[in-house]
Amino acid sequence: MRTFVKNAVFDVFPGVLRRGPSTAKRVALTFDDGPDYMTADYLDLLDELGVPATFFLIGKRAIKRPHMVREYLRRGHQIAGHGFDHARFSKLGRRALLEQCTKTETALGGQLSGRPWVRPPHGSLDASSLVNLVTSGYTVAMWSLDAHDYDTTDPDDLVARCAPVAAGDVLLFHEGQQWTLEALPRVVAAIHDAGLECVTMHDLFAE
Ligand SMILES: [Zn+2]
Repeated sequence: MRTFVKNAVFDVFPGVLRRGPSTAKRVALTFDDGPDYMTADYLDLLDELGVPATFFLIGKRAIKRPHMVREYLRRGHQIAGHGFDHARFSKLGRRALLEQCTKTETALGGQLSGRPWVRPPHGSLDASSLVNLVTSGYTVAMWSLDAHDYDTTDPDDLVARCAPVAAGDVLLFHEGQQWTLEALPRVVAAIHDAGLECVTMHDLFAE
């Protein structure tokens, strides 16, 4: 019987990041599941909005679009792993789990942080996959505010779900979705109106 890990555990477990410090006026936008055919649109929009973000990439997709992997970095964004084929980590044994991560690291060409970051597909982690990741040198990057952009296609819903945003929040979105793109300018405007700045997740947690 597997027990899924709850947010209360993530908040105290070393090697897991979920919510940044509330003392700095910063939040992080994060996007899962790229790169794909819409990545260029996301990057252009973020350039227009003048904000950096963190992208959690699927290894298999990164291999197909190596130029996009470089493009995220060239435009000042952070990239990190999101599994090789989006299999649930909680269903994998240690060996298969670590293989997912190392293959993705290779596809990404390394990360800027010393410990590579990984976000589990579907946010699905049980105690053993969490321990296996952290003891193997990975930092597990979760989120504090889920826009739930996978269960609506209405940009207005997304904007509403991202309010109110608080200092330290890590917002979760996905790539490949027109409605997410449409919501973003208003989400970012609300963040700025709240006196907050968007930074990469790496910078949010940096000392
Ligand atoms: Zn995902």
